[in-house]
Amino acid sequence: MESAAQIGEKLSGKQKFDFKRALEEIRELHGRGTELISVYVPPNKQVSDAAAYLRGEYSQSSNIKSQSTRKAVMGAIQSILSRLKYYKRPPANGVVFFVGEVPKIGDQTRMVQYVLEPPEPITTFLYRCDSQFYLDPLLDMLEEKKSYGLIVIDRSEATLGLLKGKRVQVIKNIQSLVPSKHRMGGQSALRFERLIEIAAHEFFTKVADTATDALLNTKDLQGILIGGPGPTKDYFNESKYLHHELQKKVIGTFDTGYTDEYGLRELVERAKEKLEDLDLMREKRNMQRLFEEIRKPDGGLSAYGEDQVRRNLVLGAVDVLLLSEGLRKHRVAAECGSCGWKSTVTVEKVPDEVKCPKCGSQAEIKSDVDIIDEFYEVADRMGTRVELISTDSEEGEMLITAFGGIAAILRFRTGG
Ligand code: ZN
Repeated sequence: MESAAQIGEKLSGKQKFDFKRALEEIRELHGRGTELISVYVPPNKQVSDAAAYLRGEYSQSSNIKSQSTRKAVMGAIQSILSRLKYYKRPPANGVVFFVGEVPKIGDQTRMVQYVLEPPEPITTFLYRCDSQFYLDPLLDMLEEKKSYGLIVIDRSEATLGLLKGKRVQVIKNIQSLVPSKHRMGGQSALRFERLIEIAAHEFFTKVADTATDALLNTKDLQGILIGGPGPTKDYFNESKYLHHELQKKVIGTFDTGYTDEYGLRELVERAKEKLEDLDLMREKRNMQRLFEEIRKPDGGLSAYGEDQVRRNLVLGAVDVLLLSEGLRKHRVAAECGSCGWKSTVTVEKVPDEVKCPKCGSQAEIKSDVDIIDEFYEVADRMGTRVELISTDSEEGEMLITAFGGIAAILRFRTGG
């Protein structure tokens, strides 16, 4: 088996990164023909049903005209069937198989097999045979699932919603009983003004109470966005009508044209940049801390580049390890069987063979580890916090281009 990822229900940054990396690898694979098999087994599917379905596909595939494709498809299905036998029932989130023959050199092919347990439940059983593996449902799972509370409000209406990942859910629409000014009739202007204010206050209180009911216990609520066409949204925010726990989470107010469901969508659109910024802010903060140290005359508490960071890391001198998500390198250990020569190097691509520089015979590749995995492991041992930095910000881009994707903020200087 080429690779497998065991993903728990809640993904840590590292697990998520591993899962993403596995999908990236799988996405690159192409079959010569329509012969790559993807099977999604949801948690509630009987393993025997899934197997029966696959046996059906197996017998159907005996009709495939091209001999090589037929052989490949049948081989892949058989392999999945034999793997299914290990399961009494599907894992908590179901299981996904990607199996097939991909071209090697010339006419040769190699069999690839991936068994993945997804981070979220699979919803439907799916069998697909194509020239590429089918990844869409898994890619969707990688989307951010953070939640934001949404409130669009003016004096006549308010709508509450929840933004989850990219989906906007309407929670409730509330119509206000605040009389509109043109109904004034014969009442005294002053008295009418007062009635309006009382009604408005009641309306805002009702909106806030609804928000408390709907949002206070929402898990992982990242923040609250408030929108609306006029000054009411700012008044509502500044007068702190919301429960204090929710009020703390208000990210800001934004102009929208509407206060209905459409207004919720407008609000998300308007706040988009701000939300993206929040994600990047943490990364930027870490990078800026690094730059501050670097700017100090003696280099402060900074280290960068693979060698320097590695030296400091093993000494326990690294406080925060900054690794770029753009890093694509391997740590390869080679050993010569004839003369005992040993070496561990970092390479972009694992060589097919290594010649011993001492005696010239063929050295054996003893291990090949993704450099991010390797650094993670050492950091873990030394109690160092690791921050994965995307390449989406200018600072993140600098980490990869200027520092080779590896930098550190130190606990103390080692002179290393
Ligand atoms: Zn040798």
